[in-house]
Amino acid sequence: MRVQFWGVRGAVPTPSIEYLRYGGNTCCTAVSGAQGELVVLDAGTGFCQLGDALVSGPFGQGQGEMVLLLSHTHLDHILGFPFPGMIHCPGNLFHIYGPDSTRGSLTAVCNGLLSPAYSPVYSLENISARQAFHTINTQPFQAGGLTIRAWPFPHGEHMSIWAYRITEGDHSLVYITDVRYTSEQIRTDAIALFADADLLIHSAPYMRDESVQNHSHCCVEDAIDLAQAAGVRSLMLFHHAPGRTDDQIDTLLAHYRTLLAQQQSPLHLEAAREGPVIEV
Ligand SMILES: [Zn+2]
Repeated sequence: MRVQFWGVRGAVPTPSIEYLRYGGNTCCTAVSGAQGELVVLDAGTGFCQLGDALVSGPFGQGQGEMVLLLSHTHLDHILGFPFPGMIHCPGNLFHIYGPDSTRGSLTAVCNGLLSPAYSPVYSLENISARQAFHTINTQPFQAGGLTIRAWPFPHGEHMSIWAYRITEGDHSLVYITDVRYTSEQIRTDAIALFADADLLIHSAPYMRDESVQNHSHCCVEDAIDLAQAAGVRSLMLFHHAPGRTDDQIDTLLAHYRTLLAQQQSPLHLEAAREGPVIEV
């Protein structure tokens, strides 16, 4: 599999110059399989740049097909969805998986994003590409040669997110963002989902001493502890806090790499940034 980040920030885009080395778009990650399958994780503002890149291929000719996996429907994970040209190109097909919520079905919530109060698109009916919405559940399913398994986790007290494990042959990656580990059982579930993954993409917007005031997100230490417990090979810190400059992310990364080296941990630690293609 090949992984490319198109948006790595949480909450709001950060277009100022001190954020551009890691990138200023909100969450969007593309995974491509050996047979050309395209699976996209979340549709934050990075989804627009992904669309720009795809339009030179089948998506520009109405022949594109994508599986879009939504972790949840907070704005930083869906705001890019209605904007790229590929969404308005007849013939393109988007299989959209995500959770229903207490505020309505996945389709209703996405439709709400386009209501006249928020958008000149007005409704999903005015999007020309074909859309197939699927409420996510824990049953594994296929996208070509990729096997996808989803599992729910808490995002604070009133909201859930869904994590996704994608496997191709002997290789697996896990994507989990906006999680808050609220019990030992939740941690056990996470370790089971992460087990022996080659790559774990994990939100880690705060360090432990910063997260005291935040009841919806975990911290870097949680991500590292669970990655080590699960035997993950490489941990990619993701969903960077919007106020964290590139230089501060460098400093954070260096700090935790030093701690891992002191522990003689085999875990490889990186921070997600827009652009480079990663082989898994
Ligand atoms: Zn988020």
